[in-house]
Amino acid sequence: MADVNPFKVAQKQLDDCAEILKLDSSVHQLLRQPMRELHVTIPVRMDDGSVKVFQGFRVQYNNALGPTKGGIRFHPEETVDTVRALAAWMTWKCSLLGLPLGGGKGGVICNPKELSQGELERLSRGYVDAIWQFMGPEKDVPAPDVYTTPQIMAWMMDEFSKLTGSNSFGCITGKPLCVGGSCGRNDATARGGMFTLREAAKELGINLKNATVAIQGYGNAGCYAAFLARDLFGCKVVAISDSKGGIYNENGLDIEAACTIKTETSTVANVTGVKRISNPELLELPVDILIVAALENVITNENAARIKAKVILELANGPTTPEADEILFKNGVHLIPDFLCNAGGVTVSYFEMVQNITRYAWTTEEVYQKLDERMTSAYHSVLGASKQYNVNMRKAAYTVAVSRVVEAVKLRGWA
Ligand code: GLU
Repeated sequence: MADVNPFKVAQKQLDDCAEILKLDSSVHQLLRQPMRELHVTIPVRMDDGSVKVFQGFRVQYNNALGPTKGGIRFHPEETVDTVRALAAWMTWKCSLLGLPLGGGKGGVICNPKELSQGELERLSRGYVDAIWQFMGPEKDVPAPDVYTTPQIMAWMMDEFSKLTGSNSFGCITGKPLCVGGSCGRNDATARGGMFTLREAAKELGINLKNATVAIQGYGNAGCYAAFLARDLFGCKVVAISDSKGGIYNENGLDIEAACTIKTETSTVANVTGVKRISNPELLELPVDILIVAALENVITNENAARIKAKVILELANGPTTPEADEILFKNGVHLIPDFLCNAGGVTVSYFEMVQNITRYAWTTEEVYQKLDERMTSAYHSVLGASKQYNVNMRKAAYTVAVSRVVEAVKLRGWA
């Protein structure tokens, strides 16, 4: 991962947008910084009886459009600047999808792979104990992100419910089905990305049947993306990778086998009978579609010029630096930017909130159809703006998303 500060990237992207939209300086300054940040210290009783102290953050970036919304990451390299950037991107994501929600993000510096289930539960509950006065359905609604799961959401919901003396399902999303989760939430990020891919393929005249796909990152988003690209469109997944390495077969991979090996040995790199490749090599393969579904800053000015894919799907948040964006745009690569491409997760989170409030559960088909409508409409509003301003898809997405937040900021009399 390149050594680039993600919050500086997010601010630079906003600055470019402010120039296109000719934003007032007061509004621009307001949108350049988070409105509120919590820095918390979480003591956790470990299994051996000792107490370990963890550091966590919750950044509530902007709530002009509604309660702040965004996931919580558990990651050993988490930094407050990463959380700030992710919270900013959540603000633009919710706005772009037309959701009545602001943007936020949380993080805890920890390595969940080294924690027992009991330690993980106590850490999850401890995080809620530290921030609960500032969260809730009308304030700030967390969700899963890197290395956090539906089970963790269930513990957090339960802790918040105990602290508030209520059964507050709507305080968090991405929960398991029987405690207020929504059908279709598990694969929502990948499925939403597929709807944008379908629209992009129509626009560019790409036949998705047998189109070759490389996927960097085989976690929740990347793994579902492999299956959906194959099952919905007949794409051929030729390469996948995770943090420990990748595999490649130009004739197509057995993605079921890769999943099994990943579950059993924790990495796809142990699949046999295929070529082993590194993460950087995967990005530069001669494929039609490149899906980046891992972490920030993987496409930079160092490798952007060597990318051969026609379409890039950013299922991860912040995978491409601003310099790399320019190079890709110049080379005619159609990049579907993160806060459009991966917005399916928060969109179904929003559906989950609505179902929690109304206590009426929707069917999987209803969720898919409503998700498709929102993703397709967002894709076309971004495509339209990119043609209108003659800018890349990321800048176009910014113009649509920021304009709505600016309107709300002005209507509320904040600037
Ligand atoms: N963590 C996901 C994202 O980055 C989902 C957020 C949510 O559902 O609130 O979009």
